[in-house]
Amino acid sequence: MTRALITGVTGQDGSYLAELLLAQGYEVHGVTRDVGELVTPGVVAHELDLAADSAIGELIDELQPNEIYNLAALSSVYQSWQNPNLTARLNGAVVAEMLAAVKTIHDRGDTEIRFVQASSAEIFGVPAESPQNESTAVRPTSPYGAAKAYAHGLVGAYRAAGVAASSVILYNHESPRRPETFVTRKITAAAARISRGLQETLELGNLDARRDWGWAPDYADALVRTAQHPHADDFVIATGVSHSVRDFVAAAFERAGVDDWSERLRVSDSLLRTGDAALQLGDASKAQRILGWTPQVEFDEIVAAMVDHDLALLS
Ligand code: GDP
Repeated sequence: MTRALITGVTGQDGSYLAELLLAQGYEVHGVTRDVGELVTPGVVAHELDLAADSAIGELIDELQPNEIYNLAALSSVYQSWQNPNLTARLNGAVVAEMLAAVKTIHDRGDTEIRFVQASSAEIFGVPAESPQNESTAVRPTSPYGAAKAYAHGLVGAYRAAGVAASSVILYNHESPRRPETFVTRKITAAAARISRGLQETLELGNLDARRDWGWAPDYADALVRTAQHPHADDFVIATGVSHSVRDFVAAAFERAGVDDWSERLRVSDSLLRTGDAALQLGDASKAQRILGWTPQVEFDEIVAAMVDHDLALLS
């Protein structure tokens, strides 16, 4: 039985990934900050606060999993400006501890562990070219992006040193499991509440930012394909289609049946971000060619699934 270890197992991506691996017959272990958190049934939970504790290496050595998926991170660009130090620890230093543990096991000639790092389009900052691919210049513009860029570089260094480590450069990926700190869920939850008369207005920052939004379960599938591929490598995972925040708002309100949405929208300068890229667009043709991965769910379906979920929560 293949054994996997997932960090960040209680998050959006961790939960979809755990479900996928369990369905494939894996033995799934997950790291969680506190065992009181909701962990997917069937996952063996290990309590570890990655922010404070350096025991992740010992856990890896004890379990010797066949595959490690590192999804634990401070996940919001906005919050990384409030907590640059914690961002450096979770999104950077922890990755170094994990890769060092994997290399020690590799050098001993024990289990050949395949390590998959959840990287981010934010490593490209304000991208040097469009669309971005695996060769696009890495030049982050936020503490989040900088820490992810460091981890991305580490993965390359450990791969060159013989470790089977891959970095998967994920573009934004959404689902009803997204928290409202992300713009998509903030919008769908507000559209649902406004349609029921439970909220008056929706306040947002940059409406013109264009993002390449995909469906989170498709991205969990990409992580598994990366781990199962015999050769470790870096892959951009994206839809190759961009939409503006305004497009997302329009689609969400339409789905929720709110016609006068432009009157409900407020723009607040306090929600604007430093270093926010105007456009992110990924070219996932390498993943398509090598992993056979293509996105299965389109923008309108993602918006509909999220709005419908938020409407159902109010019923
Ligand atoms: P992230 O970029 O991966 O952190 O994902 P977000 O969903 O938080 O942000 C996506 C885009 O939406 C960014 O360009 C934000 O600047 C923009 N945005 C505009 N208004 C808001 C808002 O009210 N909240 C958030 N989170 N993002 C906003």
